[in-house]
Amino acid sequence: MWPRIRRPERPQWAAMDETEPTADLLSRTRDLAVAYLAGLASRPVPAQASTEDLLAAFTDGLSLPGADPVEVVDELARLAGPGLTAVTSPRFFGFVIGGTYPVAIAADWLTAAWDQNVGLRGVTPAHSAAREAVEAWLGEMLGLPGSTTMGTVTGGLMANFTGLAAGRHSVLADAGWDVEARGLQGAPEVRVLVGAERHDTIDLALRYLGLGAPQEVPADSQGRIIVDELADALASGTGQPTLVALQAGNVHSGAFDDFAAAIPAAHEHGAWVHVDGAFGLWAAASPRTRHLVAGFEQADSWATDAHKTLNVPYDSGLAFVADSAAQRAALGVHAPYLLHSAGPPDPLELGPEFSQRGRAFVLWATLRHLGREGIADLVDRLVGVAHDLADGVRELGGEVLNDVVYTQVCTAWGDDVTTEAVERELMSEGLTWMTGSAWRGRRVLRISVSNYGTTDEDVRRVLAALGRAYESARA
Ligand SMILES: *Cc1c(COP(=O)(O)O)cnc(C)c1O
Repeated sequence: MWPRIRRPERPQWAAMDETEPTADLLSRTRDLAVAYLAGLASRPVPAQASTEDLLAAFTDGLSLPGADPVEVVDELARLAGPGLTAVTSPRFFGFVIGGTYPVAIAADWLTAAWDQNVGLRGVTPAHSAAREAVEAWLGEMLGLPGSTTMGTVTGGLMANFTGLAAGRHSVLADAGWDVEARGLQGAPEVRVLVGAERHDTIDLALRYLGLGAPQEVPADSQGRIIVDELADALASGTGQPTLVALQAGNVHSGAFDDFAAAIPAAHEHGAWVHVDGAFGLWAAASPRTRHLVAGFEQADSWATDAHKTLNVPYDSGLAFVADSAAQRAALGVHAPYLLHSAGPPDPLELGPEFSQRGRAFVLWATLRHLGREGIADLVDRLVGVAHDLADGVRELGGEVLNDVVYTQVCTAWGDDVTTEAVERELMSEGLTWMTGSAWRGRRVLRISVSNYGTTDEDVRRVLAALGRAYESARA
């Protein structure tokens, strides 16, 4: 006999039906969040404390007896404060990281309060409706084929994974091989062609898919795949199951592959074409930048992030696949105990996750807030700021190494040593953040304009900071 476990007395704050403590807690949390957001534009962009500085206090907290939730959120905010990096600051230009629209934060809070597990369409109808509305609306706005289905995933990596998984299924099915049943052991070899400057998450997704390292096709001076080289590579393996990954938006240059030429060339050889448009796919949303993606709608799958250009909180990526059956075959599970919907797909068939967060609520709220014109304005605004910063950099005596066609500006300041010094000076001043990187053999300081809230005044202040940093770096 096992000893009977006595039910502990219920802690007084544990019950959700006791609305008073919950309301106090969430009001307090609201105050803390509002205070953070109100101070965002004036706080230093880099964190002011390191992980090592903070670890002892966080560790100590876990050795204490349990505490009241209001005390806990106060303590969390107090401990975390100095170690927060202001990635949603309008003067943050590092990596490719969007800000967060207030409406998106608000919808994200509701999403947490509702805590729907949205994998099955019929179980969580409100989310299914929001997701399907977003799927149709975005598909139409971006100009994707009408058959396209959309998985909401954690980010660009998983969106690339999803598109390439559907592609792996499709090209192997064409070769008479059932990869879901038989795996890759003994399968016809799948060839994967990518541009030399694809994002590393393409390689990572291919590793998850058991496909190993891809075959690189040379890129031009802006990082675009060279279509003649792609055509040669395709011709050398005719008849082999082939995936081709193209790119909308190179992280260094912002450049877009020539989809109108590359996609038909790949299709001629029966290849599946995936487009990594983590931030670049949004160029399709504005009449002013739409030309950058010309022909991209002929591809078979597309990846993008909402947590970048659309300025919603992490984690939010989108995986679009034109052949929904391939997506469902590659990623779906069909367990007898699951209540699958008969018609449209269940969300768990459209991406790698099983249980999943209701990401479509935030997407819906943000799209509803911006409207079609608001999204076009957002994209135009980001591109406009990129041009202003590029002009300002040249005026300060810096070099702009890329053709600024979108949101990325790749700068250099004299030699590599000076460029590195400019980055150091800038970071220690803390007014802005740009990413030190290397591109085409040179040390660069890369600017990615991704935040909806960057104003002309921010641009002026950032350029002044760059001027100061360049001066000290040369001294
Ligand atoms: C950011 C990025 C990714 C990866 O997206 P995550 O959301 O970080 O997973 C992939 N490709 C490109 C071009 C990117 O900019």
